[in-house]
Amino acid sequence: MALLQLKDESAGYNGKEILRGLNVTIDPGERIALVGESGAGKSTLLRLFYERLGAKAALMPQDSALVQALTVFHNVYMGRLHQRSVWRNLRNLVLPARADVEEVRKVLVPLRLEEKIFSGVGELSGGQYQRTALARALFHTGDVIVADEPVSSVDEHQAREILETMNAQKQTVILAMHDRALAIEFADRLIGVKDGQIVMDQESAGMTPGDLDNLYLNGVE
Ligand code: ADP
Repeated sequence: MALLQLKDESAGYNGKEILRGLNVTIDPGERIALVGESGAGKSTLLRLFYERLGAKAALMPQDSALVQALTVFHNVYMGRLHQRSVWRNLRNLVLPARADVEEVRKVLVPLRLEEKIFSGVGELSGGQYQRTALARALFHTGDVIVADEPVSSVDEHQAREILETMNAQKQTVILAMHDRALAIEFADRLIGVKDGQIVMDQESAGMTPGDLDNLYLNGVE
């Protein structure tokens, strides 16, 4: 059964339509990258997907959006806030429970963040910050990750590490990516957005970054 199906739908903000005529079906296990120029509507489409997926999906928002005043532990723990009682969440804010610390630690170890578990996120390097945002999404128990430019502020080595981890740990991956080469390499399916519509939806196998030129150069095929 499809995870998600859009049939001639539109998306926008406060009644203003940004994207129209959206027809998309996403099946479990797909690895999808949304591609297109800045401002084309990738985030808008991603947001619609995320809203439809509900609790099945973990979100990695643009710029990762961690809570600066809190530690790595607390930010990652937030990935399961919705599954826990208010009492447990409040208690963990003040005095993290050993069992929850161990659960969070398991996610941090492969991401080389274990030693930072009680550091404030403001003290982290750019790569550690982005990996903490990934840890929060991995801690979420949903099988789907929806990530908006998850590797925009890290070097290529770290970008590959993040994308490989996502692909290995989540069944379905839906990304917005401005890096065309990484999108082709890490996604199986590319959805191109331009002029308020989906103008391309195809397998990435065999594609080169130049094949996506028409999404970026205004009007030039
Ligand atoms: P992309 O992710 O491809 O850069 P976006 O989806 O962010 O593109 O933006 C598509 C269009 O929607 C742009 O014209 C942008 O100005 C507009 N837009 C984005 N976010 C909002 C918002 N919160 N409220 C109103 N308009 C928005």
